[in-house]
Amino acid sequence: MTPDDIIVWCRRLWDRRLVMGTSGNVSVRLHDGGLLVTPSGRGLGYLEPRDIVRLDANGTRCDPAQRPTSELPLHLAAYRVRPDITCVVHTHPTMSVVWSKSGSVFPRDTIGASESLGKCAWTPYRKNGTTELADLCALEFERGADVVIMERHGLTAVGHSLEEAFMQTELADEAARIAYFSEQGNAFLPQKGDQL
Ligand SMILES: [Zn+2]
Repeated sequence: MTPDDIIVWCRRLWDRRLVMGTSGNVSVRLHDGGLLVTPSGRGLGYLEPRDIVRLDANGTRCDPAQRPTSELPLHLAAYRVRPDITCVVHTHPTMSVVWSKSGSVFPRDTIGASESLGKCAWTPYRKNGTTELADLCALEFERGADVVIMERHGLTAVGHSLEEAFMQTELADEAARIAYFSEQGNAFLPQKGDQL
């Protein structure tokens, strides 16, 4: 995978409104153990390949003038506990953030969620960019989650390709949207025992 691949998927995340402002970050793990990661403080929709930060296997920046995302601890923690994955996609999709306040993972009672969405988990709020947040998410990834819903923050998906992590992100946010609107709809449906 190359910086150009990251740019392609960052623009798709942006186009689908899965990230906005300077939120969200993406990384891939290279064969040599190094990482390619998006920079700090930049909108993912406007990045160029030269903006992508390269870290060697020790986590040292190849270009000291570049600044990686402040969520780098989250990415490093995910790779540490999941040797099988090569991509991490962290986003702030609206419906996932809305649902995250419920303190649980959304129901998975649709075909899209039950057939194509990987294991999902929920984590309580911790300040962004902290190792505390990274460790909480890593615990769920270690338990086999592919998607972690982060309270009042967003979600993080891991995968074996950027396409896979992107699709998990998209599917999880759609499941959150369906769950939210289903709950709203239920308020208008006759309850058990009501006269029709
Ligand atoms: Zn974030």
